[in-house]
Amino acid sequence: MLRITGGKVYDPANGVDGVVKDVCIADGRVVAEADGARTIDATGMVVLPGGVDIHTHVAGAALNFARGLTPENFRRALPFVHSPERRTGLGGVTPTTFATGYLYAAMGWTTVNEAAVPILSARHTHEELRDTPIVDKATLVLMANNEILLDLLEAGELERAKHVLAWLVWAAKAYGVKAVNPGGVTAWKWGKNAGKLHEPIEGYSKVTPALIIASLAQIIDELGLPHPVHLHCNHLGVPGNVETTLETMKVLDGRRAHLAHLQFHAYGGDDWHTMRSEAATIAEHFNAHPNFTADAGAILFGQALTITADGPWQHLLYQLTGHKWGNVDVENETGCGIVPYTYKGNNLVNAVQWAVGLELLLLIKDPWRIFLTTDHPNGGCFWRYPELVHLLMNKDFRRESLAQLPAKARKRIVLPDLDREYTLSEIAIITSAGPARALGLSHKGHLGVGADADLAVYDAKPENGYLFEHPRYVIKAGEIVVEDSEIRSVHEGRQYVVKPSFDSGIEEFLRPLFQKVYTMSFDNYPVELERIHHGEVKACP
Ligand SMILES: [Zn+2]
Repeated sequence: MLRITGGKVYDPANGVDGVVKDVCIADGRVVAEADGARTIDATGMVVLPGGVDIHTHVAGAALNFARGLTPENFRRALPFVHSPERRTGLGGVTPTTFATGYLYAAMGWTTVNEAAVPILSARHTHEELRDTPIVDKATLVLMANNEILLDLLEAGELERAKHVLAWLVWAAKAYGVKAVNPGGVTAWKWGKNAGKLHEPIEGYSKVTPALIIASLAQIIDELGLPHPVHLHCNHLGVPGNVETTLETMKVLDGRRAHLAHLQFHAYGGDDWHTMRSEAATIAEHFNAHPNFTADAGAILFGQALTITADGPWQHLLYQLTGHKWGNVDVENETGCGIVPYTYKGNNLVNAVQWAVGLELLLLIKDPWRIFLTTDHPNGGCFWRYPELVHLLMNKDFRRESLAQLPAKARKRIVLPDLDREYTLSEIAIITSAGPARALGLSHKGHLGVGADADLAVYDAKPENGYLFEHPRYVIKAGEIVVEDSEIRSVHEGRQYVVKPSFDSGIEEFLRPLFQKVYTMSFDNYPVELERIHHGEVKACP
């Protein structure tokens, strides 16, 4: 049992905005009273619900490939924990499993959503997540380029597609569905990309990116998954993609959707020389359509590692930069590309990208619908979130940073005109309460009675570094896991899995297909529930 006393509590989901009050904890949950509990004096500190990362890449085959592709990152890695109680790990741009858990917790984040899992490598992803301590976890399975599913859409068999999708989600022991460059990753198997949203993709006469997007959104709604379709729109990263993003929102036609790393999808201009921010256009449309949530996918200057199922984009990035490039194909399901990248303040394109992420966070009015991410490790490492928070809370700091950008870049962005500063309560929303709600994790992201006792206590005015950088305490499921920035105990996190209902007869349809098109036998394909460490299965209505 614990009582945190004297701290200013920020719990926006329950309308608590900087009120000095006690937070009591027993059996891993927030409770009304905890008589005789150990007391933590949080005077002069702020208390917030633990961070929830709605879009990150921390585990699985692609991450491992990326780690192997960039050993130089590890040579330069932060010196990292290695003690008898704790397992060793390497930091750097793509921290290894144990380090990932420690680093997230050491910043006050207690739940992460791994946003891109091919079903064929789900088993591996779960093994890595099992070795990622402290944080609770969920995964999204990649679905917008699955050959069996697209064949069913071509045949107009939406009902059967629904049962297949539900079966696949359960086979992967996933929590939700991710759609990456719908149709484009399929076309990439022939070295092509999806063109326009309403044109059929390579190998199909009826299936268009728009059809895939609308069908997935409809199926996910009908299945009642807690999180809507998690969409990485077509044409990521390229000048002028604002049109595609706006059209995608229209295609969704009122259906709920989460737009991933929106920063990479809000560019104007005709080419790299004329690229400019269209954050204001996107924000205006987004503000008027409450069916959407989004995460920022902000970039920060410095080293990153781009890694995405969007194979054609990664090939383009490789051509643009001449950097190393890795490409993976995952049978009938998806693919992946990897290119190490460094964002530079004196580079016109990077300067615009940096501004766009912040602009979206500042121009989207409702903090319950836009969440803080860097699409780790694509836009920057998750352990740099405190810097991003500081940029949002402090307009002078933003101005200093803006002054470093090329003059040409400053003319193509709207950031210099934005004076908004986030309040701490709004920060609690975009880092915790909002993403928890969008994921349908009702016991996360708040400190009401019955909530998971995941919370962080920070010095209100840290003497050095940014707020959020060095929590005084982090409590996970009621246990003190971090004290004075040091990992004190290693809690094993839970993993959330969704079981949508499907007609078990769908297996008779899938079994012979697997025989024909997969290298793995049908019976070996689904991940066994026993493999999920501390699994918590959510049934769908
Ligand atoms: Zn991502």
